[in-house]
Amino acid sequence: MTGTNPPTLISVQNLYKRYGRKPVLRGVDLCVAEGQVVALLGANGAGKTTLLRLISGLAKPERGEISLAGVTFRRAGHELRRYIGLVSHAPLLYDNLSAEENLHFFARMYDLQAPTARIESVLRAVDLWPRRRDPVRTYSRGMVQRLAIGRAILHNPPVLLLDEPDTGLDQTSADMLHHLIRQLGAANRAILLSTHNLDRAVEWADSVSLLVGGKIVLQEPTAHLSGAQLRRLYADASDQI
Ligand code: ATP
Repeated sequence: MTGTNPPTLISVQNLYKRYGRKPVLRGVDLCVAEGQVVALLGANGAGKTTLLRLISGLAKPERGEISLAGVTFRRAGHELRRYIGLVSHAPLLYDNLSAEENLHFFARMYDLQAPTARIESVLRAVDLWPRRRDPVRTYSRGMVQRLAIGRAILHNPPVLLLDEPDTGLDQTSADMLHHLIRQLGAANRAILLSTHNLDRAVEWADSVSLLVGGKIVLQEPTAHLSGAQLRRLYADASDQI
């Protein structure tokens, strides 16, 4: 059987970032291919959010190269933001508006054509269609998180970045999010998500990347990996620095 490898949608090469005199990233290399979910791991302050912000163009690196779907940031600049959906710690939603109203607002920002049909399909995908007319302030944490993902995928970006999307979710909400991430990944996207939960990283992602001392020190496919094995690898890799 001849198979072609799926294209790399996120490519980060030799990335450096410092805040003031403090180096945070010191030569990060990372690739995520189409259809792949990669979990980014690391202790508090390791630089996971910083890396996601750099990839989404919200901050600039000192050195290094970021390409999305083969196009480098340097060449395309702001245009590349259209390739990206980002769910950060703050959900960036209007509490007094309903899910539907929020998505209509963001659809105007993205200048989406035929927004009504797209909004319906997104609300169904994130399982909020029955609650679409309720104000966001009445939603549970899991619903808010799913709507934040809906906002991030509204313009159908090939790259989805999720910063600790599982924080504060109960088991049912986490299971729904897992299912949603799988569906979104299967739809030809590249997904990079950060998490502190190693069992979830193994369960949700195709591979894990561990950030220690400003570098990726471990990259491991999850296909034959257990949570316990990852915990050992994590501890060993963290000790070596
Ligand atoms: P956590 O798991 O706690 O969310 P993280 O791995 O996402 O942590 P970052 O938030 O990227 O880590 O922070 C990495 C380092 O950079 C930390 O020491 C943090 O204090 C510092 N830092 C992040 N943003 C800024 C900023 N805007 N100005 C100054 N320092 C910053």
